[in-house]
Amino acid sequence: MRGKAAFRRGLVWLRNDLRVHDNTALHRAAASCAEFAVIFIACPKTWQDQDEGEPLVAFRMACLRELQESLAQRNIPLYFLELGEFGQVPAAMRQVVEKLGVDVLFANAEYPLNEQRRDGAVRDALKEIEVPVEYCTDRTLVPPGSVTTASGEAYKVFTPFKRAFISQFGGDSYQPLPAPRKRSGDEEWPAWLEVEGSHNLVQTIPGRLRGYKLDVDKRGTVLGWQPGEKAAARRLKAFSGIIDGYEDERDYPAIDGTSRLSPYLNSGAISVRQCAHMALDYNNDRWSGGSDGIACWLGELIWREFYTHLVVAYPRLCRHQPFKPETEGVAWSGDELAFRRWSLGETGVPIVDAAMRQLEQTGWMHNRLRMVVASFLTKNLLIDWRQGERYFMNKLVDADFASNNGGWQWAASTGTDAAPYFRVFNPYSQSKKFDRDGDFIRRYVPELQSVRGDEIHCPPRMSDYPPPICDVKETRKRAIEAFADLK
Ligand SMILES: Cc1cc2nc3c(=O)[nH]c(=O)nc-3n(C[C@H](O)[C@H](O)[C@H](O)COP(=O)(O)OP(=O)(O)OC[C@H]3O[C@@H](n4cnc5c(N)ncnc54)[C@H](O)[C@@H]3O)c2cc1C
Repeated sequence: MRGKAAFRRGLVWLRNDLRVHDNTALHRAAASCAEFAVIFIACPKTWQDQDEGEPLVAFRMACLRELQESLAQRNIPLYFLELGEFGQVPAAMRQVVEKLGVDVLFANAEYPLNEQRRDGAVRDALKEIEVPVEYCTDRTLVPPGSVTTASGEAYKVFTPFKRAFISQFGGDSYQPLPAPRKRSGDEEWPAWLEVEGSHNLVQTIPGRLRGYKLDVDKRGTVLGWQPGEKAAARRLKAFSGIIDGYEDERDYPAIDGTSRLSPYLNSGAISVRQCAHMALDYNNDRWSGGSDGIACWLGELIWREFYTHLVVAYPRLCRHQPFKPETEGVAWSGDELAFRRWSLGETGVPIVDAAMRQLEQTGWMHNRLRMVVASFLTKNLLIDWRQGERYFMNKLVDADFASNNGGWQWAASTGTDAAPYFRVFNPYSQSKKFDRDGDFIRRYVPELQSVRGDEIHCPPRMSDYPPPICDVKETRKRAIEAFADLK
């Protein structure tokens, strides 16, 4: 190996790709370097500035701890560096590279604007010392920007994007890459280094991260989510047993009908290729046709691609701007009290309250309910979608800038492929349709435990449950007028 390797010493910079299997950057290093180590850089100040909340950060760190064990078993050193902000990374990385004597850096590309700028600055800093940097496609199935219209433009609407994606890339096999093999263990890497402006760079040993911002409970879970690659693989396997029923069951929050893989996909404990591979394998390599459940689920993975492609094609999405500039003129209500009642799950609209309490208690919310509560906030309460987007980033264990921004702009009718502004979800009809017997509501709103029949969706006056915060018909009219005024 040593004689044939293209590089003597490599460094793999892991971020939200915390796994050893099917990790492109790790695989590239294993294939092309005689020796390599891994580094993780925590930037808590930037994470906070980007509204990445405790559930997300705790889950990420817990996944890192799991990964540390897998790397140690393979004799691959993991360095851990804590800085404050992304802006400090280029200079610190240059020092690390020089001190470790590394001659190439690999990482998997990240796409929001701040991450792209950070990565560009790292590339420039290492160029000065002639160390190449390779950013690999890994977070998405295909590189953002590679699915375009005939005239080379980015798609703004999902369905033609999906069609083009399938016709361009549907034949690809998405074979997951193997994990790097166990190293001999006789490579010499320093135990720690001094890095200006940071705590020491530590070559971690199993257990070393224990206690670092880990908000895990006794079972080692974060809000009930078992971290790490093994847990992700188990979940994918379990879901493969029910995937055929996905299309029929995915809209009912009381049923465990979706994969719940989003926290793992976003921290990178599983790759989207591994997910696609499982589904395609079960569907005779077909993206459409075959099992309706599988085709529908594959379609959701394409939504994820679509939103990631959009943030790259339209960087203004990363600057808190609406995709449709005219919607900047919506006269949002700015009602802080209403926002607070929404976030606490005390709106008096049972399905909305149950959903918001699910988010608080589990760091996750069912997709149907994300649409319902986002519509309720932005249309019925006429509160700026950016407040909801930010709140979700803070509370979700699966927070992902692209999907969250896409979901919020869709619901608020400010985005590319958004719901038309006159389509306002009626939370009571949604509740009756998707939680008919009220099982989900009762699970999260104990005050309504004893309410039976249809009243669960719109309960009578009660001493311990608030009356509805608004009249959904009147507020729907107000929202439509607010948007119509823009024309
Ligand atoms: C307002 C709003 C905010 C959202 N915020 C996020 C977020 O921060 N992070 C996030 O991962 N998803 C977000 N979504 C999308 C979706 O709700 C979640 O991906 C889904 O609920 C995760 O559950 P699951 O893993 O069981 O999904 P499944 O139904 O099993 O789908 C499999 C995977 O496909 C992807 N996916 C599914 N639906 C969507 C979608 N509509 N958009 C993009 N990708 C999708 C996810 O990666 C998901 O894990 C948001 C949706 C809305 C309406």
